[in-house]
Amino acid sequence: MRSLPRSLDPLTDETITGFVLRLAHRLGTTPAEILLRTGLAPGGNPGLPTRLPLSFQYHLDGAHLTVFARATLLTPAEVADMLLAPLGQRYGPLNPAFTPRSTPARMIYDNPWVLTRSTRYCPPCLTGNGTPIQNRHGGPWQRLWRLPMIFLCVRHQRLLAHQCPGCGALAKSPHAGSAIARLSDDALNPWQCRSAEARSVPAEQPAHACGADLTRESAPAGELDSATMAALVQVQRHLAGLLAAGGPKSTTSAGAPSPTTSPICARRSP
Ligand SMILES: [Zn+2]
Ligand SMILES: [Zn+2]
Repeated sequence: MRSLPRSLDPLTDETITGFVLRLAHRLGTTPAEILLRTGLAPGGNPGLPTRLPLSFQYHLDGAHLTVFARATLLTPAEVADMLLAPLGQRYGPLNPAFTPRSTPARMIYDNPWVLTRSTRYCPPCLTGNGTPIQNRHGGPWQRLWRLPMIFLCVRHQRLLAHQCPGCGALAKSPHAGSAIARLSDDALNPWQCRSAEARSVPAEQPAHACGADLTRESAPAGELDSATMAALVQVQRHLAGLLAAGGPKSTTSAGAPSPTTSPICARRSP
């Protein structure tokens, strides 16, 4: 598998699906083509892939990880940091040591403590931070937005959105079991809704994508007064701090000190 002619630097806390969308946008091709050329196409099937397994958001085996890193000009560590599995070192529901979920597919399937079939998002974060590369391809779809206790963007002081303002679909909901919907669509940019347009068409005709701009400010669900927002920001900062690599080694739970990591976690993470 040859390296791509150009790649991108991963953004802070970016998911692998978000990275694939930005890379496809940069190279002017489809996400399916990127999957094929980076070794993420499910094996054995000729031609362009029609789905990206949901479990690839969580974990890539050694061969997939090495090939993807080589093709995208990244280090294996940079690729690993785009997956959900490393969050398991501080987040039990993503750690096989604390759940009966022994395989990546089982970790993702119906895990009520991880948003695996949609995500929350912050519209201003998706817009990007004003740098030329983010102006062109958008900001990161962030890993932490997949965890239920991340409900607020501390930077922009707003509750996270979870639905498309155009069609109402849950953001980044999979289609036909693929972690990226409409893999062969090269007309959508990374911050557009990829859900099928909500209209009645004959079943044999493929529906158009909704295409709504998710960076567009949707009407807030309810105005929060400044005191409430300040309290929520404080709670969110505390929870995010506990999840952060290098965060405190223990916290208080039910009045007693409780470790935030375990040597077992790191050892048994896949
Ligand atoms: Zn934000
Ligand atoms: Zn939509």
